[in-house]
Amino acid sequence: GRKRGREDDDAFVDETRKAARHVAEHYSARSNQSREERESSPIIHLKKLNNWIKSVLIKLYVQRGDSVLDLACGKGGDLIKYDKAMVGHYVGVDIASGSIEDARTRYNNRRQRLSFPARLICADCYEVSLEKVLKDDAPFDVCSCQFALHYSWSTEERARKAFSNVSSLLRPGGYFIGTMPDSNVIVRKLREADGLQYGNNVYSIKFDDSFIEKQFQASKPFGIQYHFKLEDAVDCPEWLVPFLKLKSLAEQYNLELVMKKNFHEFVHEYLQQPNFDELMRKLGPLGDGTNGDCISEDEWDAAYLYLVFVFRKTGEAPIH
Ligand code: SAM
Repeated sequence: GRKRGREDDDAFVDETRKAARHVAEHYSARSNQSREERESSPIIHLKKLNNWIKSVLIKLYVQRGDSVLDLACGKGGDLIKYDKAMVGHYVGVDIASGSIEDARTRYNNRRQRLSFPARLICADCYEVSLEKVLKDDAPFDVCSCQFALHYSWSTEERARKAFSNVSSLLRPGGYFIGTMPDSNVIVRKLREADGLQYGNNVYSIKFDDSFIEKQFQASKPFGIQYHFKLEDAVDCPEWLVPFLKLKSLAEQYNLELVMKKNFHEFVHEYLQQPNFDELMRKLGPLGDGTNGDCISEDEWDAAYLYLVFVFRKTGEAPIH
């Protein structure tokens, strides 16, 4: 093909920025829901399941007194989980200013109950070098990126910025934990689908006509876009993240893979542990099966679209 010229590059950068803004505006516009609205959501059990998964991850990898960086923190939905983990310090960053405001309100209204200092910053984590901004807060013991790392995958530059931020801010031995779409499942379902779109009552995924599967395999692992809709939650462009590419890119930034599990596998495995089983009962995502109060098949199928990842920053952990 033709070499990309300067003008094409500029147009490409504009497109990428526009897509990032689109994502930010989408999340910013989502207002806070009341308790009743939350409870009547068609994906209430899926949301609870997601919260259980994040809680388990935090319990596994966050220790008392840890300094935590929450990339794409959203409305601060994990603040209470970190309070339970008794972290020492928290920094949340998100591109959506409305969400950062909500997170701030959530933190301030809970001041009595939240025992750690927090900083909330509005920034594009995949565009801006956070090292300078956070020089007084770093190094962190744990960096978390929940349901958001795939928004960095529109270009190689952005994906690299995500990892350089994580790597430069984590201490050696520190963990990078998160959740994101499982591209293997997404592509497998596409193969089985009739056309370029599929889904169920709670979600839909639509690729555009230019989707070519072999790009996903190797030659062009960035910028493969699809449109994702999750009832009462998401309606925006997302990017496929081929996991092998993610893993090899992470290695270039001194992050070694510790765990990668699809949500289904993660649930089956950690539900075996009595304390996590008890938490599941408390949160109630799987319900007790009575009165239809149980995760629906469609929600469970949507959960299959996601995976959990854990990386560790190489090097010796400092002695406390
Ligand atoms: N982590 C939160 C949670 O688990 O509840 C929010 C998850 S929400 C599905 C995705 C979040 O990613 C949104 O809050 C969105 O604004 C944020 N986001 C998307 N692109 C971003 C970027 N480039 N920089 C920072 N945040 C971003």
